[in-house]
Amino acid sequence: MNNISIIGGGIGGLVTALCFKKLGIAYKLYERAETLKAVGAGTWLSPNALQVFEWINPALLREIQNLGNTFNSILVANHQLNPISNSNQDFAKKRYGYTTMAIHRGALQRILYSSLPKEDIILGKEFKQYSQNNNESYKIEFTDGSHIHTHAIIGADGIHSGIRKQLFPKSRIRYSGQSCWRGVADYEIDANLASVGFTLWGKKLQFGVSKLEQGKTYWFAVKLSKPKQKDDKTGLTVILIEMFSEFHSVVNALIENTSIHNIIRNDLSNLELLHKWHSNNTCLIGDAAHNITPDLGQGGAQAIEDAYYLSNFIMKQLA
Ligand SMILES: Cc1cc2nc3c(=O)[nH]c(=O)nc-3n(C[C@H](O)[C@H](O)[C@H](O)COP(=O)(O)OP(=O)(O)OC[C@H]3O[C@@H](n4cnc5c(N)ncnc54)[C@H](O)[C@@H]3O)c2cc1C
Repeated sequence: MNNISIIGGGIGGLVTALCFKKLGIAYKLYERAETLKAVGAGTWLSPNALQVFEWINPALLREIQNLGNTFNSILVANHQLNPISNSNQDFAKKRYGYTTMAIHRGALQRILYSSLPKEDIILGKEFKQYSQNNNESYKIEFTDGSHIHTHAIIGADGIHSGIRKQLFPKSRIRYSGQSCWRGVADYEIDANLASVGFTLWGKKLQFGVSKLEQGKTYWFAVKLSKPKQKDDKTGLTVILIEMFSEFHSVVNALIENTSIHNIIRNDLSNLELLHKWHSNNTCLIGDAAHNITPDLGQGGAQAIEDAYYLSNFIMKQLA
């Protein structure tokens, strides 16, 4: 019987596993993907997330910082890059010792995964359903027909969480009315913007930018849109350039220097507020519990905070 089973090996699940490892709590993590591929584009990590990495292991924080790019300021600007607000990050540096940074999602996932014992991470296992044997244990069934018994379940299985659907069948995902394209451009941004995380706001359009590493810049583009629209991939560069034609020239340069194979499109949805995230010994974390739209750059950071607080709470219960 497993003590605790984590379902989902995204940011939330992997960081929960790292917290359990630090606290000496026995667990197994089950992820449906056969391999943890370098998916996605960039992500911002704000000090609330970095504090958790520092707590897990200061060397882990350094490794993450070394592979990303730290900001001196966070700028919100109009479509022509004229500042609306510019938040100097010195206060965060003074208070925490570091500021918000950007990193490639794939690089972050690789570092987290490589810091965990492989025997505790079971890839290629897709959660199907669970049932409660008695107050003490659960049976989890996987889509390949196998099953396990466990004392507790952590649902870190993302916005479309199967665990949440069972736990709170009335929970609802709503479309935000926005579609989002993300990419990493082979492009070195001007030196004066290299340490700035910035977003340009136009009419019903938003474009976010941050340098990730030498010669690589992450961007995301958000547009009001009907849901489930498909792109004609071959013409995508032209479509995006046209969409942002009134924006500052940096936007054009970034789109032009991104391979269409590296542009991902997703509709942005969020979860209607849940008033509870757990029942008995089953608990949701991250997007499974409280997904938000990406403008705040906080969804992953909130999943990381969940991992910290839940693991420390469990530790206190076990003591
Ligand atoms: C465009 C965009 C930009 C963003 N930018 C930022 C940012 O800058 N900073 C930030 O903090 N956040 C950002 N976010 C939000 C962030 O990506 C999410 O909040 C974060 O990934 C949530 O992590 P999670 O572990 O809860 O879920 P996920 O990352 O979705 O991971 C869920 C995992 O569960 C697995 N899984 C699903 N179902 C099953 C199953 N049945 N069985 C087994 N495994 C399963 C999946 O394969 C996946 O690996 C952004 C989001 C978007 C869309």
